[in-house]
Amino acid sequence: MPPDASVSPLLSVTGIEAGYGKVQVLWGTDLAVAGNESVVLLGANGAGKTTLLKVLMGLIAIWRGRINFADEDITSLRTDRRVRRGIVYMSETSGFPALTVDENIRIGAQFLSKAEARLRAEELYSIFPMLADRRRAAAGSLSGGQRKMLGIAKALASNPRLVIMDEPSAGLSPLLVREVVRVLASFRGKGLAFLIAEQNVKFLDLADRVYTLDGGRIGFVGTVAEVHANDALQRAYFGLK
Ligand code: ATP
Repeated sequence: MPPDASVSPLLSVTGIEAGYGKVQVLWGTDLAVAGNESVVLLGANGAGKTTLLKVLMGLIAIWRGRINFADEDITSLRTDRRVRRGIVYMSETSGFPALTVDENIRIGAQFLSKAEARLRAEELYSIFPMLADRRRAAAGSLSGGQRKMLGIAKALASNPRLVIMDEPSAGLSPLLVREVVRVLASFRGKGLAFLIAEQNVKFLDLADRVYTLDGGRIGFVGTVAEVHANDALQRAYFGLK
């Protein structure tokens, strides 16, 4: 759903600056995600997408700027507390390979009560039957596509309000990318917000709005229709037109 300007966004990020040592990567990044909204963040390799997502999770120190989530300033909150507030992060390589599918999902649900965690796990197994069949298998023994589904299930296990994903298409065949997009689409508009860093054009199917990150600065903000109508963006990000 497009954001309602009269409602304050679920996540709002203003003036983020961050980097590594003396190297500055983010130069005053602003971004907002409304509750129930899916936002795709496009950017070339090295644009700073991973850095931004990790700053939002508290995994990389923020130098300047402010992060608000559900009307609370979470700029200096520890990562685990951000997870408890309802933000979850799925990295490119999610899931602990040596642990079983079930253990991974339990880790995702670690901040829920035991009863809630059990209920949530069963709910997820009905959504991802191929994981139910392999619940006692080591995550490392799954195929690339199954592993990605486990990453999504593990993220959803915490019952989040906002799911942050770093390149969910990484390492997947076009067929599996379509499958991941299909699964994520089934969660759209069900009280979940998504912020997905991607370079794969298929993910635009999921987006209510698109941001582009270029050299650590937001370039374009707009709808998917506007991206499709913009030849320069099509050329820059998808090698099209
Ligand atoms: P990619 O899609 O390639 O992951 P990205 O948009 O996610 O790209 P980042 O990973 O955020 O980009 O990297 C932004 C810049 O920060 C790059 O120039 C990268 O080399 C640098 N960088 C990333 N991680 C580190 C690190 N741990 N130490 C030093 N520099 C880093």
